[in-house]
Amino acid sequence: MTATRTPGVPAIEDGLLISTNPATGAEAGRVPVADEAAVKAAVDRARTAGAWWAALGFDGRKERLLRWRALMADRVEELAELTRLEGGKPIADAIVEAGTAIEHVDWAARNAKRVLGPRRVRSRLPVLEHSGHLEYQPFGVVGVIGPWNYPIVTPIGSLSGALAAGNAVVFKPSEYTPVVGQWLVDTFGEVVPEQPVLQAVHGLGEVGGWLCRSGVGKIAFTGSTATGKKVMAACAETLTPVVIEAGGKDAMIVDVDADVPAAAEAAVWGAMTNAGQTCIGIERAYVVAPVYDAFVAAVTEKAGKLRTGEEIGPITMPKQTEVIRRHIDDALDRGGEAVLGGRDSVQGSFVQPTVLLDVPEDSLAVREETFGPTLTITRVADADEAVAKANAGAYGLGGSVFGKANAIRIARRLRSGMVAVNSTLTFVGMANLPFGGVGDSGFGRIHGDDGLREFARAKAVTVRRAPSLLPSTTFERTPAQVQRIVKTLKMLYRR
Ligand code: NDP
Repeated sequence: MTATRTPGVPAIEDGLLISTNPATGAEAGRVPVADEAAVKAAVDRARTAGAWWAALGFDGRKERLLRWRALMADRVEELAELTRLEGGKPIADAIVEAGTAIEHVDWAARNAKRVLGPRRVRSRLPVLEHSGHLEYQPFGVVGVIGPWNYPIVTPIGSLSGALAAGNAVVFKPSEYTPVVGQWLVDTFGEVVPEQPVLQAVHGLGEVGGWLCRSGVGKIAFTGSTATGKKVMAACAETLTPVVIEAGGKDAMIVDVDADVPAAAEAAVWGAMTNAGQTCIGIERAYVVAPVYDAFVAAVTEKAGKLRTGEEIGPITMPKQTEVIRRHIDDALDRGGEAVLGGRDSVQGSFVQPTVLLDVPEDSLAVREETFGPTLTITRVADADEAVAKANAGAYGLGGSVFGKANAIRIARRLRSGMVAVNSTLTFVGMANLPFGGVGDSGFGRIHGDDGLREFARAKAVTVRRAPSLLPSTTFERTPAQVQRIVKTLKMLYRR
C-alpha cells in the first residue's frame, strides 16, 4: 500500500519511516519506527554496552573511534551523496559538513584521556596529609536528539564527546533525516561490532520524549528553542541533566576599517550556505555608515550570482518555507526594502537569495530565526550601536566581526557563545573550541575540553597519606588541636 506522499515530509507506512528528498520526492530510505518499549529496550541494551565500552579505557576507545573516523573519511562521498539525497544539501556543502564531523571524532578520540583521565591535584595546606585525585567518569548511557539541518555534524558534535568519554549512546535523529542518522550508527557498528554502543531510535517527536524519560544519564539536545523547552521539562521529571543547543539569530558587525569585499563574501556565505538553514548562520548584518553602501553593493552582487538548485539547495523541512515567506513579507510590510529577492523569493521548495535593507529592529526578520537564505543589512553610526543592536535579541549563539583595530574587542562584547573575527562560522570547525549558546540559544557546551566534560561526571577522591597535623574530621580532636586550627586559620587567611 503506498499512500500519497509529499516530497520531503516523512511518511510512516507499516511501521517504517520513509524519508524523501524535499525537491524531487525521491526516496532516501526507510527505517523502523520505535515505540516506547523499543526505546526502553534500546536504553537497557545500551547500559550493558556502556559498561563494556567504558571498560575498554581511553586507549581502547580511541583506537576504535579513530577507525570509525577513518571509515567515514574513506566513504565520505557516499555519506555526502546520501545527505544530498535525503535533505537536498548540495554535495560540496555535505562534504564540508562531513569533514568537520570527522575532525570532531578525531579530536575527541585523541583528547579524551588528557581532559577526562585520572590526575592528581595539589593538596592544600589544611588537608596536606591527604592526596587529591580527580577523574571524569561516564554517565553510562547518553541520549542524543538531533535536528535535520546538519544531520552529520550536529549529532556528531555530541556523539564524539559522549562516546570518547566512555558512554553508550541512544541517538534519535530528526524524522527529516533518519537515513543519514542510521548510516552513522551502522558505520560505527562496523568498527565496533561487539556491543550496541551506538544505537538509533527513529520516529516523530514522541520518540525523543520517551528517550528523555528513559532514565539515561544525560540528554544532549540540538534543535529549536521551543522543543528544547519541552525536552528540558520532560527531563526534569527524572532530574536528567541536559545540554541544549538551540536556535540562533547571529549577527555580523562590519566596522569602519573592515576589508569590505571580504566581509561581503563572508556575509553571503554565512547567510546563504545550506540555504540559510544553519543555527550559526548570519541572519543580520550591522554595518557602520562609512562602509555601508559599499557593503550592500558587494553583498547584492555576490548573492545575486547564487543559483537555486546549485549553490542554494531546497528547504529541507517543507513547512519552513512558510516561516521564511512570513518574515520577508513582514519586513517589506513594515517599510523594509528588498535589494535582492522579495515577496516572490519562495518558489516551491526553493528560496531565492534575499537581501533586505531598512528592516525595523522589532520585525520578525530581525528578531526570530528565519532559517532561509535571507540577510538583513542595517546601517549603524558606530560599533557601539552595532553591538547594542546585535545583543538586543533573545538568542545568543555565534556571530562575526569584520574590522581591524577594534575587532577583537567588539567580538568579546557580543552576547554569544562564539564569534569569528574576519570570517564566519569558523569556530564550529575548530574542534578544540567549545560550542554552545546563551539565552534562547541554550546552555552547556559541545566540542573542545568543555564539550568532553559535558558528557562525564567529575569524580573526586582523597587518599590519606599521613596522620593529621590539624585533625578536624574526628570527635577525638583535643582542645589544643582546635587551638592549633585557630592559629593556622589566622595565619593563612587573616591578611
Ligand atoms: P526541532 O526542535 O523541531 O527538532 C529537534 C529534534 O527534537 C528532532 O529530532 C525532533 O524529532 C525532536 N523532538 C521533537 N519534539 C520533541 C519532544 N517533545 N521531545 C523530545 N524530542 C523532540 O528542531 P529542527 O529539527 O527543526 O532543527 C532546527 C533547529 O535546530 C533550529 O532552530 C536550529 O537553529 C537548531 N540548531 C541548533 C544547533 C546548535 O548547535 N545550537 C545546530 C543546528 C540546529 P522530530 O524531527 O521527529 O520532530
